[in-house]
Amino acid sequence: MSENFGLFKGLKVTFKELFKKSVTDKYPKQFREKPQRFHGRHVLNRYEDGMEKCIGCELCAGVCPAQCIYVRGEENPEDNPVSPGERYGFIYEINMLRCIYCALCVEACPTEAITMSSLFEMSVTNRADAIFDKSVLVVDDSGKPRSHEEKTNLTNEKDLQNFDGWMRATSSNGNPNYQNVINWSGSLGYGKKEPEKGQHLEEE
Ligand code: SF4
Ligand code: SF4
Repeated sequence: MSENFGLFKGLKVTFKELFKKSVTDKYPKQFREKPQRFHGRHVLNRYEDGMEKCIGCELCAGVCPAQCIYVRGEENPEDNPVSPGERYGFIYEINMLRCIYCALCVEACPTEAITMSSLFEMSVTNRADAIFDKSVLVVDDSGKPRSHEEKTNLTNEKDLQNFDGWMRATSSNGNPNYQNVINWSGSLGYGKKEPEKGQHLEEE
């Protein structure tokens, strides 16, 4: 008797689920809006003058709990520097198969070089393609993020474009005067970022 009751309960749950509206019905024709700080695919940003923000310091690689970032910094060439300062990210790779999207790399980065987009579609057909290098991660000359999956046509451009909503977790250069002040920096193609709701920007 109790077995029959259990079966009936189980069927009731199944039956109820049959008529629930599925949130994935319209995907991939329509995409849901993501929260501003959705943790999706990474982007390596550049300054408004085109220079790369990454200085090859390897802090992101050091903090990554999944050990999926590989960075090799190199001295900037004197005649044609890639980033401001002494060094730049000569090699930068993220193994997306290992990433847990915790955003600790974003928090650790002293120059806002690495941020995360809203893009969650990262399907690849082999393991090697899941290692995103600078050719995918660094934004192009107009500040637009590059897609890794041009051929599959699955990329939601909007999710990929929404990549700049990050702020520094710490004050700039550790200066206590910047405590609680959001010090946005200019980004290629986007200019100076607007503070998010509830934040304020100190007048210069
Ligand atoms: S999001 Fe987390 S796991 Fe992924 S690369 Fe950054 S630090 Fe590593
Ligand atoms: S992305 Fe940021 S933390 Fe990582 S190496 Fe470049 S500058 Fe350093």
